[in-house]
Amino acid sequence: MSETTGDHAQEHEPQPYWLTEYPEPGLERSWSQVRRPYTSEADDRSRIAAAIKGVRWHRLSDQVPFSPGLILRELIPAARQAGLAPLAMGVGTDPLDYPEPHLLDQPRDELGPDFFEAGYLVALRQLAGRTIFSAYFLVLGDEAGQVVFDTDDRPRPEVPMTRGCAAGLHELCRGALDDRRCACPCGCAAQVGTSRI
Ligand SMILES: [Zn+2]
Ligand SMILES: [Zn+2]
Repeated sequence: MSETTGDHAQEHEPQPYWLTEYPEPGLERSWSQVRRPYTSEADDRSRIAAAIKGVRWHRLSDQVPFSPGLILRELIPAARQAGLAPLAMGVGTDPLDYPEPHLLDQPRDELGPDFFEAGYLVALRQLAGRTIFSAYFLVLGDEAGQVVFDTDDRPRPEVPMTRGCAAGLHELCRGALDDRRCACPCGCAAQVGTSRI
C-alpha cells in the first residue's frame, strides 16, 4: 500500500514545467508553469529563445548593471537553497516587452504602448559533470520568474578545459586553470592569465 500512496502523492504534485522541447539533439528546453501565460503562444517562445542567445554571461563576482544585478543577488542564494550551484550569471540584452498581466489575453496590436511593461531575461548557469544546466528568468517590472530550464548534453570535445569553456562560456575563460592550458578548440588558450572559473 505504501507504494500506491507514494505514486498517488507524485501524481498530484504540481508540474513545474508545462512543455518540454528539443531545439537540437542533446538540448532539452523546459518551459515553466509559473510563466506559462507569457509562453503559451509559439511567437512568445520564439522571442524568448532568441533572447536566450543574446544573454551576456558574467562571473558571479563581476559587476553587472544595477537592476539585473539586484535581482541576481536575490536569485543566487535562492537557487543555492534549491540545490543549484551557479557558476555564472547572465543578463539578457534583448527587450521582452509584454502587456500588463490582466491584458495578456487581449490582441496586442490593439493595446497602446502604455499598457506594456518592459521585460528582459536574467540567467544562472551550472556545470555538473559534463551537463550544462541553465535557468532563465523573465523579469517584468522588478519581479523575476523562472521561464525556461535548459539541460544541455550536446557533445563537446573531450579535451582538458577550464570550467568556463566546459560550461560553454568561452568569453569567461582566461586560458588556463591550475597551470594547465585550456585545450578548448575555441582558441582561448592563446590568452594569458589564470581563469577563476
Ligand atoms: Zn572555449
Ligand atoms: Zn578555455
